[in-house]
Amino acid sequence: MNRPTRRILLVEDEPVINGAITDRLVAEGYDVVRAWDGPGAVAEFTAHAPDLVVLDVMLPGFDGHEVCRRIQAVRPVPVLMLTARDDEADILVGLAVGADDYLTKPFRMRELVARVAALLRRVDRAAELAGRGAADLGDLRIDAAGRRVWAGGDEVHLTPTEFDLLLWLAVSPGVVLTRERLLAEVWGWPGASGTRTVDSHVKALRAKIGADRVRTVHGVGYALEAGHDR
Ligand code: CA
Repeated sequence: MNRPTRRILLVEDEPVINGAITDRLVAEGYDVVRAWDGPGAVAEFTAHAPDLVVLDVMLPGFDGHEVCRRIQAVRPVPVLMLTARDDEADILVGLAVGADDYLTKPFRMRELVARVAALLRRVDRAAELAGRGAADLGDLRIDAAGRRVWAGGDEVHLTPTEFDLLLWLAVSPGVVLTRERLLAEVWGWPGASGTRTVDSHVKALRAKIGADRVRTVHGVGYALEAGHDR
């Protein structure tokens, strides 16, 4: 199936890395817009409406976390963070401000390409799910097409990943989905590495829609409570 060319905003202040990533993404058929610092990233995001953002954490001006916070406030968009080290605190902050995935430097270019493709596939699948329209689960209302959620009558603002996670759980209310299945469906990752990522996002989702709406089946996975009223 032919899709329109996807536009990626690349934010990286190191010229060699910026150039190498740009060359590879262009070779893969993407339209690449570049920025080199925090303020530039926000300006380019607003000007070019990219489909995805590849975002270095350490940047001049303000850092990648602040960029992520600001752009997610404008429009939800998938964000792949590039971190200098495998620092769990860094990664948790990234997830908290709306990053969807991260890569630790140094990384293989083919790994970056695979992660970008997986994030974009996820957006496509979520759009297919969105074709199912709105769903009411007790006092939880999900407008799949508009990507909006209300809990107990109040609108809840979710990151793209949190929304997709909720959408997949909502397709089969009450049915347990394994963390591996969620990882494959929501993140597009085959295999079982990264289940901790699922746990982090479920935790964030619970904090926003109410902890008791998502049931943990210990050692297996998660289920959305069906028809929960309060
Ligand atoms: Ca940097």
